[in-house]
Amino acid sequence: MIRQVYLDNAATTPVKKQVLDEMLPFFKEKYGNPSSIYRLGQETRNAIDEVREKVANVINAKPREIYFTAGGSEADNWAIKGIAFANKDKGNHIITSKIEHHGVLHTCEYLEKNGFEVTYLDVDENGIVNMEQLKDSITDKTILISIMFANNEIGTIQPIEEIGKIARDNKVYFHTDAVQAIGNINIDVEKLNIDLLSMSAHKLYGPKGVGALYIKQGVKIHPYMHGGAQERNRRAGTENIPGIIGFGKAIELAYETLDEHNERLTKLRDKLIRDIKENIEYVRLNGHPDKRLPGNVNFSFEFIEGESLLLSLDMLGICASSGSACTSGSLDPSHVLLAIGLPHEIAHGSLRLTLGDFNTEEDVDYVVESLIKVVDRLRQMSPLYENVKKK
Ligand SMILES: *Cc1c(COP(=O)(O)O)cnc(C)c1O
Repeated sequence: MIRQVYLDNAATTPVKKQVLDEMLPFFKEKYGNPSSIYRLGQETRNAIDEVREKVANVINAKPREIYFTAGGSEADNWAIKGIAFANKDKGNHIITSKIEHHGVLHTCEYLEKNGFEVTYLDVDENGIVNMEQLKDSITDKTILISIMFANNEIGTIQPIEEIGKIARDNKVYFHTDAVQAIGNINIDVEKLNIDLLSMSAHKLYGPKGVGALYIKQGVKIHPYMHGGAQERNRRAGTENIPGIIGFGKAIELAYETLDEHNERLTKLRDKLIRDIKENIEYVRLNGHPDKRLPGNVNFSFEFIEGESLLLSLDMLGICASSGSACTSGSLDPSHVLLAIGLPHEIAHGSLRLTLGDFNTEEDVDYVVESLIKVVDRLRQMSPLYENVKKK
């Protein structure tokens, strides 16, 4: 059997055993509907509210400010559309960045077709949003700034505190997609002046299809789903109890072990970066050198197609990504890599390797060994590389 090395933890993570163990009783004996008044129902109601408290504590929010959703995309959609439609008497202008997740970008594009105006801020070569441009873009019509905490492709972490301050000084709501940051960074929504924050369980060793939106008390926002009175009348539908329970355990574990997680992954990440740079020529590290998620590595390999690289690595049991999971399958290079200024042909040759809690130093060695072989073989077939060699 060939070895399997999973290096796509930014796409999703495996569910941890402790997380699954907490979830299982809620598929079996604890099946009550939380809206029912008998004890079987109240038992699940209480279990959900315990998770609400746990999630709130992690980001220094109040439990009543946490709303469970079906994941990060839903939280992004709700935050942006909910604010837009509830505040359109005040203004129709939204500010975001060019490197957001499609959950944010495509929602903004939808709003543009419905009477809203959107400014997409540039980023520098490391993927940091331009603060001057942000300040200059704010008008008396601006109702929302939505800028991600950390990028899923290149791992760059934004100056969130600065953005929060700019938003507050201008009395504009601030939403941040923190799906990649949660479980990697200590987040205090009060200190950072965040009004809305998106989370997802499956990026931090919890189940897929569940997440949450933090909505600061007093923020004017429309409900997301109409129907029953769940989630304080703002997100109808019988709760995904096992999912919410799993999310709670996953986020608890993540913050109990945050320091050792970060230390271990940063060490593995830096080893992977160093070994690739030392052993393979014509490579470029994408993303910020140190304001970067602990598990994120993103390289461009010149003279190579990212897709061929992925397929060759897959033959060796290595799971990686050539951009974000959403962009693979399309031929356009990633919007994030283009936004940091990479020419199309370089962007096409990029590879994202994202480390997680289950990876080891042996995994890193195996990947580097495999990359050296695969990159060499693919370059032998490249006429462009032949020309460079001749010179
Ligand atoms: C994965 C991801 C999402 C989407 O979350 P889902 O739970 O898969 O819907 C949104 N934003 C970022 C930055 C992500 O990495």
